Amino acid sequence: MSPSGSQPSIFSRIIAREIPATIVAETEHIIAFLDIAPKAPVHVVVTTKDPQYQNVVELAAGNPALLAELVAVAEQIAAERTHGQFRLVFNTGAAAGQSVFHVHAHVMGSPELTDQLGEDSLGTL
Ligand code: 5GP
Repeated sequence: MSPSGSQPSIFSRIIAREIPATIVAETEHIIAFLDIAPKAPVHVVVTTKDPQYQNVVELAAGNPALLAELVAVAEQIAAERTHGQFRLVFNTGAAAGQSVFHVHAHVMGSPELTDQLGEDSLGTL
């Protein structure tokens, strides 16, 4: 269950393998999968297996080591799938575009250095 006692988040259901996703990285504490509606040529969601933190501010305050691990996994994915320059987005709050209240980062980039990410990859997440 989520911290608020509501139903498990969609990401918890992916972690539990109740719904399918293309998982691209997994550690003891972190899982990463392709976004179902990609906004960039490379668009991977990186999230904690622990559902208790709703956003990056809560995670930074409650478990900074876990946030560092999430960022390290994001960097590893970017190293494998982009040219090493990438966008790391944590939408925080519904007004900022957050739709899943289970902390996660968006790794967004392109395999080719010549490809530029549009501003819509920031503003429409
Ligand atoms: P947020 O809007 O909360 O920052 O990001 C949530 C992201 O999760 C969105 O980019 C959305 O496309 C993605 N997403 C939502 N449901 C699913 C799903 O069932 N599978 C996958 N792979 N991604 C999802």
